[in-house]
Amino acid sequence: MNLIFLGPPGAGKGTQASLLSKTLNIPQISTGDILRNSVRAGTPMGTRAKLFMDSGSLVPDEVVVGIVEERLQAADCNNGFILDGFPRTVAQADALDVMLARLGRQIEFVLSMTVDDEKLLTRISGRRMCEKCGKGYHLVFDPPKEAGICDLCGAKLYQRDDDKVETMRKRLDEYYEKTAPLIDYYSQKMILQPIPGTGAIEDIQNSIEKVLKGSLRDNS
Ligand code: AMP
Repeated sequence: MNLIFLGPPGAGKGTQASLLSKTLNIPQISTGDILRNSVRAGTPMGTRAKLFMDSGSLVPDEVVVGIVEERLQAADCNNGFILDGFPRTVAQADALDVMLARLGRQIEFVLSMTVDDEKLLTRISGRRMCEKCGKGYHLVFDPPKEAGICDLCGAKLYQRDDDKVETMRKRLDEYYEKTAPLIDYYSQKMILQPIPGTGAIEDIQNSIEKVLKGSLRDNS
C-alpha cells in the first residue's frame, strides 16, 4: 500500500506514520528526518537545507523531490511506503505523480490529519527529540521515563530550533499557503481520507486502521 500523511506541523503525522509503518511493515519516509540527518552529517545538501529549515521555510522543491525520487527506488519500498511530510507543495505533488507513473505505481490514500491551530501550537512547543537517535517525545503527552534523557539510547533530548515559538508561526503560515491546497488536489483525485488528529494516539491509530481495512474489504 502506498500512502501519504498530510497535515500541518504538529498534527501527529510522524507519530502515526511510524506506528502504521510497523503494522503494515512498509517504510516511513519522512523528508524532515532525512533532511535533519543530512544537516547532522554536514553534507552540502544538509548545509543548504538548514538555512531554510531554521527559518521555518520550506526547502526548495528540487531538493526534496530528488531525495524522495532516490528513496522510492530502494528495495524496501517494493511492497509499499508511507510518505510523511511529502509532498508539501502542488509542484512536489505533480513531481510525485510523474515519478510514480515511471515506477508503475500510484498512491492509494492520502490520510489528511486535521487539528486546530491552538492545539498545534501546544503540541509543537512541548516536542523534544533525541540528539542521537532522533526519537521524538512530548513533555506532556509522551514524556521520557527520565526527564531530558532518551528511553532508547540514553542520549540527551533537545528542542528543534524550528519548534521554537517564533519559527513555529512561520511554519504554520507556510503550511496554509503552500501545503493546504493539497487537500483539494487530492480530494479531486478521490483519494483523500480526513482523519481527526485529536484524542489519544491509540484512538487515532485505530481510526486510521479502520479506514484502511474498510478500503481493503471494499476492493476485495
Ligand atoms: P518536518 O519534520 O516534516 O516538520 O520538517 C521539518 C522541516 O524540513 C520543514 O519545516 C521544512 O523546512 C523541511 N521539509 C521537510 N519536508 C519538506 C518538504 N516536503 N518540502 C519542503 N521542505 C520540507
